[in-house]
This record gives sequence, structure tokens and C-alpha cells, in this order.
Amino acid sequence: MRHPVYLDYAATTPLDKDIAERMLPYMTGVFGNPSSLHSFGQEARQAVAKARGQLAALLCAGPQEIFFTSGGSESDNWAIKGIALANQNARKHIITTQIEHHAVLHTCAWLEQQGFRVTYLPVDVEGRVSITALKQALDDDTLLVSIMAANNEVGTIEPIEEIGVLTKEKGVYFHVDAVQAVAHIPLDVRKMQVDALSLSGHKFYGPKGIGALYLRQGVGIVPFMHGGAQERNMRAGTENVPGIIGLGMAAELAAASLAEEMERLSVLRERLIRGVLCIDGAWINGSRVQRLPGNVNFGIQGIESDVLLLRLDMAGFAVSGGSACSAGSLEPSHVLLAMGQDAEKANSAIRVSMGNKTVEQDVDEFLLELQKIVSDIRELKK
Ligand SMILES: *Cc1c(COP(=O)(O)O)cnc(C)c1O
Repeated sequence: MRHPVYLDYAATTPLDKDIAERMLPYMTGVFGNPSSLHSFGQEARQAVAKARGQLAALLCAGPQEIFFTSGGSESDNWAIKGIALANQNARKHIITTQIEHHAVLHTCAWLEQQGFRVTYLPVDVEGRVSITALKQALDDDTLLVSIMAANNEVGTIEPIEEIGVLTKEKGVYFHVDAVQAVAHIPLDVRKMQVDALSLSGHKFYGPKGIGALYLRQGVGIVPFMHGGAQERNMRAGTENVPGIIGLGMAAELAAASLAEEMERLSVLRERLIRGVLCIDGAWINGSRVQRLPGNVNFGIQGIESDVLLLRLDMAGFAVSGGSACSAGSLEPSHVLLAMGQDAEKANSAIRVSMGNKTVEQDVDEFLLELQKIVSDIRELKK
């Protein structure tokens, strides 16, 4: 038995074994503080510099534009608060969307309490933000636009390049939460004309608790953490050296396999979608075209996601209901509500997210089990 089968890669991914091995020496032998001038420090310092280059290469950025953080949430907090606070005397309006991760939404809500004005753009039925709505929202007071590259629940990919053109034209800062997109679809910070971009290691086979913020050179932003001179005075604190080494290697591995893995996962995704749609009363949430390769999000008429999720778990399949962050809460997903669904429909959403260990057999076995459970539940309800 290969069970349980993990189908929740959007929540987190397993640390790649080779990456774990590469990190190990930096927890024991190469333990130096990168700020130390002696050879122990120098060795750690060089390793951090190498990782910075590996990550920069993945994003088509310069290494001096990469700042290591503790993960996606910190990067989102820093980018949005940091740009807002550095520029608040000039402008006080922020634009984001209704479907962002809570790391963005709650940060924006906090800034509202501090006197900033925030517009939460609506999205269409597929979860795509409207360029027209963005154009209407932009005014002379707009300081920052923060829009995700791809949604963590429904996998919808947003028109980042178009938004980049628009924000550049208006002289407005543009931050992208790319935590779900980095290492999963090609991203080029220059082409997208973004000023800031958040990413997280544990979403692409790197370690947890490490991430980065890309900051275009010249962006007006205040430091996140005050103290030492680490990260060019922007983020104080002794570096998480093993984490940084792991993140760098994860970036390099992703760059090497990106095209191939996208193709492989897209095939599995379409196979899974076809199978789900064979079930009576099933629908797919999100876009059929602008979609992350490994993401499927579906609902089934009359079947609640928490019941289905537990039954699937007992049968050996780990999936997520709506979003991992709302696990344990009965609140319907804010993303699905923004996409125009009612609470009942939103509460039947199941997210299946596939990754590097997922194979065709997993998809087929999952579909068999899903059909069985759904007829079971429907039989009980008769
Ligand atoms: C996971 C995730 C985050 C948070 O990243 P952490 O590293 O877990 O803090 C932020 N935004 C999106 C879109 C995510 O999927």
C-alpha cells in the first residue's frame, strides 16, 4: 500500500531529501555566523551568497534584490506595511483583491486602522481580477497595488503582466504574493514589472520557516526588523543559514524541472477534472485555462466538504477543504464568496493539489474512492 496519499501540496510540500542532506552540514560543521570575520563566518557567508544567486536566477532578478525572510507571511507583511509606511506622507490608498491570502488581507485591514484607505477589488466567477475595475480604482492617492500571482485555493492565475504595465504607467508600487506561483509557473520580475514579490520555501520542496522578498532596486520601503546590519540593514537578525541553503537549492532544482513538471502535472490535473465531472452534480471552481498545473478545486451538489474530507482521509487521501487556513472554521471560503458563490455552494469545495510525488495511479484511485464515498453519502441521505 502506498497510502496515505498526500494531495495537499498547496498547503505545504515535503522537504526534498537531497535538499535536507545539503542543509545538514550547515547545522553542525559549518555553523559559523555569516557576520563573523573569521573562516567559520566566511564559509557561511559564501554559502548564503550562493543561495541568494540561485533564488535570483529563478526570478530573473539581481542577487542584491533578494531579501531572506521567515516565509510568505512575513514577506507579505513587510512588503505592504514597509511600502505603506515609507510613503505615507505622499499617498495613502492601497488596492488589493478580495481573494488574497490572509497575510495580505489582514495586513491591509491593520493599515486601514492606521489611517490608510484600502480598495478590495472584486473578481469574476473564475477568480480573475478585472483590469477595468483596477483602472477605475487607481487614483492620484494610490500608493500600492498588491495582487497575488496565483490563488492558493482555486489555483486561478492572475494577469500580473497586464497589471504591471498599468501600475508602471501610473507610477504606483506593485507587490505580488507569488507564494503559490514561484517554482510552479515561470515568473520573470522584469517582464512583470513588479516592485516587490513574496515567496516561501515550503511551497516548493524547501524547508519551512524560510522565504524571501524580492525588492526591485530603488523601492521605497522601511526595514522590517531593526537591529543588526543583516540583509543590507533591512532585516536584522542572524541568518537562518540552513534554511537559506535549502531555499537556494529548492530554487535551483525547480528551475531545472519547471517546464517538464508543469506539463506532467497539467496532464494529471485534466485527468482528475474529467473524472470529477463524471460525478452527478459536480462542478469545478476556478479557471479551466488560467490555472496552476497541480490545482483542482471542485464541489459536488449536496455534499459538504468537511464530511467528504474526513471520509477521504479515512480512506487514505489527504486533501483540503477550501483553504488550509480556514481549517477548523465553518466560515465559507472568502475566495469562493468573492467568486459569487453562496455559502452552501462554497461549503462543498474540496481542493486537491498535486506535486512531485503524485502519479496517475493516485489520481485514478482517488477518483474511485471519491465516487464510492459520494454514492455512500447520497445513499445515507435517502
Ligand atoms: C502559504 C501562503 C502564504 C504564507 O506563506 P508562509 O510561508 O506559510 O507564511 C502566503 N500567501 C499564499 C498565497 C500562500 O499560499
